[in-house]
Amino acid sequence: MSATSDDCIFCTIVAGEIPADVLGRTEHAIAFRDLHPQAPFHALVVPLDHHENVAASAAADPAVVGHLVTLADTIARESGNPDYRLVANTGAAAGQSVFHTHFHVLGGSSRMTETL
Ligand code: 5GP
Ligand code: ZN
Repeated sequence: MSATSDDCIFCTIVAGEIPADVLGRTEHAIAFRDLHPQAPFHALVVPLDHHENVAASAAADPAVVGHLVTLADTIARESGNPDYRLVANTGAAAGQSVFHTHFHVLGGSSRMTETL
């Protein structure tokens, strides 16, 4: 599956059809604040193309993962959080609830949550 998925909330955000607090954008990816922050700084970095998880995105185009990591680093630094965690839940049993590839970018505390 790629490009867009009709019933995917992140595809809807990518398309600009519902609002998000956007922190950064490139030709490959978008970063926005998580609706339910689990850390003082909690953003999501999301590729524009729809795949269900980071491994599927990597299989389709390995460069996508590099784009996501670079955008995550940029928005973390720009928001004053040079130390941060990246989390990519893969599969429902691992806590994934949105099946469009994303990294959580967590910063702003010493633990940065261990439950995500
Ligand atoms: P997952 O559980 O798949 O690892 O992470 C999905 C994340 O997306 C959750 O942290 C959840 O709060 C966030 N989320 C779900 N729907 C929306 C939305 O409509 N807008 C934003 N900004 N975040 C969302
Ligand atoms: Zn999607």
